[in-house]
Amino acid sequence: MSPNDVFSELVGQDDPVVTLRRAAAAAARIVAGEPDSGGMTHAWIFTGPPGARRTVAARVFAAALQCQRDGAGCGECHGCHTTLAGTHADVQVVTTEGLTIKTEETRAVVLRAASAPTGGRWQVVIIEAADRLHERASNALLKAIEEPSPRTVFLLCTPSVHPDDILVTIRSRCRLVSLRQPPAAAVAEVLERRHGVAPEQAGWAAAASQGDMERARQLAADPEARGRRDDVLSVPRKLTSIGACFDAAARLEAASKQEAAIAVAELDVAERAALERALGAGGTGRGATTAMRGAAGQLKELERNQKLRATRAQRDALDRALQDLIGFYRDVLVTSMRAPVPVVHGDLAEVSAAAAAKWSPESTLRRLEAVLTCRDAIDRNVKPQVALEAMMVGLWQG
Ligand SMILES: [Zn+2]
Repeated sequence: MSPNDVFSELVGQDDPVVTLRRAAAAAARIVAGEPDSGGMTHAWIFTGPPGARRTVAARVFAAALQCQRDGAGCGECHGCHTTLAGTHADVQVVTTEGLTIKTEETRAVVLRAASAPTGGRWQVVIIEAADRLHERASNALLKAIEEPSPRTVFLLCTPSVHPDDILVTIRSRCRLVSLRQPPAAAVAEVLERRHGVAPEQAGWAAAASQGDMERARQLAADPEARGRRDDVLSVPRKLTSIGACFDAAARLEAASKQEAAIAVAELDVAERAALERALGAGGTGRGATTAMRGAAGQLKELERNQKLRATRAQRDALDRALQDLIGFYRDVLVTSMRAPVPVVHGDLAEVSAAAAAKWSPESTLRRLEAVLTCRDAIDRNVKPQVALEAMMVGLWQG
């Protein structure tokens, strides 16, 4: 067990890690031709609240299944590396939007999953948002899970196993891995140990990120991320008129768009170059289906997918901003109720205390609700600017 193997990504998830390590080791024994010891199974569901990193857990497990060092998930071999980088030939990832595969293609993925793994280990299918599959796709998936190919493994990620999220018939055939949001102390510990962050900074970033490891790492390491957070958290103080509300909404919208553009720019260019190279070279090596489609069509599809990814990146950026605001209004509430829990934004304790002295708990709650409503609206594809404007006015009025 190395402290830097792939499972070390799963901070504060001790029980799931034990289960997954055991399964990966059993899987490696099957690959080695030993009799099935029963620790491995071909269909898994990863559940947990936002920030519990369901898809990271699925990817890490996939890496361990493809690990060439006895399924240890060493993090160093080719199998581990390519799986984590998303380029392993035997690991297919189904996302609901953005790059790789769209929901409508789930059927095709499921069919392809039945083929033997090219690397001789496992054919892994990760479905990142199994709760958002269409009914037809769910049924195709169910069929594949009911009649599994010997070396195919399905890893489904969903917020819960509520029947609204996943078919009961699928649930009953899967093993469940329940993840939780890691405690701030566990996140801080990883920042210190693995990323060399000073203890005080690590403690602050872990609290400010509210258990989200990725976000904590970003806040600790990236001054620009800290700057964006400062901007977001200055919003409550700036809402002094209706005009200020619209300004704040426009600024937040623009900032999220810019953040998203930066996040996807490099990948966009690299993908386009790779596709153009493949097309220029004839592209016949990429399989019959690819060869049949026209080059222009492929470029167009790439552009469409890249646009979807940019939209998703903007939504993620907005979600982080809203999460910060939720933390702030929660701190105000916690302070005015004198609740014995630590605040999220320790560096803004004076500001939240001042707000607590000024606002009634009821009006703070209404503000909190305004942020949550905005989040829901963006989730339901309401135009971000419209949702943000409504929120800002709600935050101003209280
Ligand atoms: Zn490995």
